[in-house]
Amino acid sequence: MRPRTSSHEIASHSRREFLSISAHLLAGGFALQPFTAAFSQATRADRNVRITGIEVFTVNVTQRTNWIILRLNTNVGISGYGEASLGGRAELAELHEFYAMVDGRSPFAVAEYRAQGRSRAAAGGREIATAFSAIEQALWDLSGKILDAPFYDLVGGKLRDSLAVYANINRATVERTPAGFAETAQRAVADGFNAIKAAPFDGFPALTAPAAEIARAKELGIACVYAMREAVGEDVAIKIDAHSFFDVELAIEVAGELERARLSWLEEPVAPTQTQDTKLIHDAISQTLAGGEFLFGMEGFWPLCENRAVDIIMPDVKHCGGLMEATHIAAIAQAVDVRVSPHNPSGPISTAASVALCATLPNFEILEYQWGEAEWRGTLVEPGENIEGGAISSNGRPGFGIDLNERVLEAHRL
Ligand SMILES: [Mg+2]
Repeated sequence: MRPRTSSHEIASHSRREFLSISAHLLAGGFALQPFTAAFSQATRADRNVRITGIEVFTVNVTQRTNWIILRLNTNVGISGYGEASLGGRAELAELHEFYAMVDGRSPFAVAEYRAQGRSRAAAGGREIATAFSAIEQALWDLSGKILDAPFYDLVGGKLRDSLAVYANINRATVERTPAGFAETAQRAVADGFNAIKAAPFDGFPALTAPAAEIARAKELGIACVYAMREAVGEDVAIKIDAHSFFDVELAIEVAGELERARLSWLEEPVAPTQTQDTKLIHDAISQTLAGGEFLFGMEGFWPLCENRAVDIIMPDVKHCGGLMEATHIAAIAQAVDVRVSPHNPSGPISTAASVALCATLPNFEILEYQWGEAEWRGTLVEPGENIEGGAISSNGRPGFGIDLNERVLEAHRL
């Protein structure tokens, strides 16, 4: 894994910048004037920027996955992106409901948009929350691009240049057997990842099914975990997502049987809205417990945090309310020493937004990366995704740092 930027490196970088600015100022009083002129030009332009239109693109990834991408356009020719993907959904009509709240307005009015749309998003279902969050993302991307600053510089700057990522290998695993999981795990590790996640209990029967059927499904899932551990060795982190198939008793039993696999976390053995059950499991097992991928807002995450029912929360910028909400969610988690690993089994727009967000979070742990779904995924955006040695780096460009590659978009649009 690439080492995170040390505080020493950050300090020397800032010192270099300070010395460089000081040198400019010392070179002559006139050096100050172009800077002031450029600044006032920018602020004049900013006041006049208005949102003029929305475009929605559906990108077909696999038989099971589409990415829904939206582009907000402005009267100054600058565009910003957001992602509203929801599994296999091909469209999300709710985007237009929330677009109406920003049409003709300034892209800087994020707080105003949140004040107007947040209660509707909090009260609605997953589609409503996702549409609200996608427009919020695009407002930030636009704001950064107009001000010529990366997202993180609009909210206090970054804490790190590169972020740890783990490869979600679940969708790439077609053969749902120990050998199938072992094979994809090995390929992801060969591709440079040193942390992976899978959901080998997918397809688990209802808990009312005959005991023998449940026992068979349990044994198969456990065998898949141990096959992955054997395939990748001891140094690769393995995370297991249980997709809420269990109850408290079964979760504790399975966690006990998985102890020798030394998981780096167990995710959502029961639904994360079942706070008390999650807490019971948390206190009974030895593994780190993570969850919360579809929860909305601070109010959605607070019960897990307040009860310390999980060790790691997993807000998703596509569903939790957007980047500002995710920042607030991370802050309440920090207050109770809970870490943040954003959920992101998503396309490259959500990934770029998540990278911009995670660069700012003090309690960031690791970001999810959807691995092995489509070999062209990294080229849908320009510049392409920069992943190396188990880490993803920000490219330092304005907003989320990316534009759509129109040629790749046209090749895969629905
Ligand atoms: Mg999950």
